[in-house]
Amino acid sequence: MTKEEDIPDWVGAQEFYDKYDPKEILGRGVSSVVRRCVDKLSAQEYAVKIIDITPSDQLTGQEIEEIRSATEKEIAILKMVCGQENIIQLKDCYESNAFFFLVFDLMKRGELFDYLTEKVTLSEKETRNIMRALLEVVQFLHSQNIVHRDLKPENILLDDQMKIKLTDFGFSIQTEPGQKLSEVCGTPGYLAPEIIECSMNATPVGYDTAVDIWSSGVIMYTLLAGSPPFWHRKQMLMLRMILGGKYDFSSPEWEDRSDTVKDLISRMLVVDPKQRYTARDALNHPFFSQYVVAEVRQFTPYRRFKVICMTVLATMRIYCNYRRAKPVTKEVIKSDPYAVKPIRKLIDACAFKIYGHWVKKGQAQNRAALFENSPKVILLSLAAEADDSTLRTW
Ligand code: ADP
Ligand code: MG
Repeated sequence: MTKEEDIPDWVGAQEFYDKYDPKEILGRGVSSVVRRCVDKLSAQEYAVKIIDITPSDQLTGQEIEEIRSATEKEIAILKMVCGQENIIQLKDCYESNAFFFLVFDLMKRGELFDYLTEKVTLSEKETRNIMRALLEVVQFLHSQNIVHRDLKPENILLDDQMKIKLTDFGFSIQTEPGQKLSEVCGTPGYLAPEIIECSMNATPVGYDTAVDIWSSGVIMYTLLAGSPPFWHRKQMLMLRMILGGKYDFSSPEWEDRSDTVKDLISRMLVVDPKQRYTARDALNHPFFSQYVVAEVRQFTPYRRFKVICMTVLATMRIYCNYRRAKPVTKEVIKSDPYAVKPIRKLIDACAFKIYGHWVKKGQAQNRAALFENSPKVILLSLAAEADDSTLRTW
């Protein structure tokens, strides 16, 4: 290879390494690694998705070409959706013959998937906030005829304010209006029935943007139940469950969930894509407006009056306690330690530890005396205790 041919191989990679310092791995995909990286000049942190297209034993020349063209499409879509609030922003991108470097804003809180794993299930309120943002993004993508095709909690990242950012446009495609797709891609548990049908039928009907609504329904179910609606150890059986739209709300997690939320999920997980809700339909569902209404309904005039009375009483109690509270000074501790509640508790605990029972015996004797700062009183106190049988064994 001549010197001139050598340069284009690395020029993109060199530009990236001149500008950024790559750090630890944040996530991995089939042919990509995502690392944290730091801008050398500004010290600003980013995430870089490094896509390896090095010729190797594992990849044929044709596969490399496919990854290259898929990455170019991913970059084109990322540029198209740039500026959308709930979509990850592509900051920079570099290409060499061996690698692509896609630099994004860093989402320090990671994937929605990990957040869900940590929380097990999410409340309806939290699910509402996440799903509203997700469906708004999906509505925007569909208005541009873009199908994401890989919606899942692993591809939804969380920013510092816990707002979602949709990522991984690796399977995304922009279609012509009315165009049907037939390529089988996505993640098994989130695949819409019509995509699976494409893999089984020589002349499939095809699919369109509705597949993203199905996946959104699967995500919504998973957030509330902590487990997916379609799952089987054997993938073939899972795909059959999806084809038949066989899922239920029978697990105990669903007992406390509202009928409204179940209704919305059941309108997204409809096998026939023509009958399935669109993103707009879903956003207009009462689930996204009921929260405000329900809150207002709960506060009847009587309830409001009760809450006001309780608030006034609580405020008065806090105020009176505050007025009664004396500052704890060294003098107070010295002269009357038993009058100070935390010290009294400590004294009692110590006394209990020493004697194995409460020391107080009758009105004349005081547990506090044990701890008064006069050796005489302590001795008197101990003398008074001498009658006690427990003390004898001690
Ligand atoms: P792939 O196409 O290989 O699945 P993704 O774009 O989904 O690649 O990234 C893989 C993983 O890397 C994500 O699931 C996430 O854990 C992590 N990741 C990706 N982008 C970012 C980012 N901007 N900030 C933080 N982590 C990220
Ligand atoms: Mg991904």
